[in-house]
Amino acid sequence: KWRQEARQIEATVAQYPQMAPESMEKFTDIPLSSKTLQGLRKNGYSNLTDIQKAAIPSALRGKDILGAAKTGSGKTLAFLIPVLELLWRERWTQMDGLGALIISPTRELAYQTFDVLYKIGGEHDFSAGLIIGGKDLGFERARILKTNIIICTPGRLLQHMDETPNFECQSLKILVLDEADRILDLGFCETMRSIVENLPSERQTLLFSATQTKSVKDLALLSLSEPEYLSVHEES
Ligand code: ADP
Ligand code: MG
Repeated sequence: KWRQEARQIEATVAQYPQMAPESMEKFTDIPLSSKTLQGLRKNGYSNLTDIQKAAIPSALRGKDILGAAKTGSGKTLAFLIPVLELLWRERWTQMDGLGALIISPTRELAYQTFDVLYKIGGEHDFSAGLIIGGKDLGFERARILKTNIIICTPGRLLQHMDETPNFECQSLKILVLDEADRILDLGFCETMRSIVENLPSERQTLLFSATQTKSVKDLALLSLSEPEYLSVHEES
């Protein structure tokens, strides 16, 4: 079984160079793990939205992304699928610690993202957790050390970085900043700076925002390396 998985990874990655957004309509047109495809199918997702078409191929190839697309355009799957696929390619296990960090502006959004991850990621073996406050620090502490995919709000994450012994981010492979404009509107600019300073520089970063403001560009400069700029507007 282990061998079979290794072969599937190799065969899937071998198709990455041929991905072309214009010829993709469905999730099954993208080279994805059968686990992710199954999670998508079970939840009734079949056709790609525009931002998903634009973002997923580049993200799978390991590029940093600055993605602009309005609310409701399907950004959640545009970053959750690359996160799952990256950890799958790396053969990440529960023992490998923190592999992906997804930062959301609010608890409510973090919950929503967790819910989508739970639904489409169910076939994978990764552990996922919410770090959003509201529960006592000790409760989160016990779990944070064993979590592969953390979905968090900025303030609470930084608190753990500062106060939780042994909380290690050095294994991190991918950082996602969701709704970056709102993160900054809520006054988390300095918090984000401190968080990024604590992360390994060898990582992939996906930044999504509904609007492109000056402060979003500053955050992009701080967190992204040679990003691809993707801007998707509604068809009129
Ligand atoms: P955004 O983050 O851009 O505001 P979401 O990721 O929250 O958008 O998605 C908005 C809605 O569209 C959700 O209800 C989601 O389930 C649905 N959705 C996302 N991608 C697809 C898709 N490929 N096919 C059908 N529905 C989708
Ligand atoms: Mg969203």
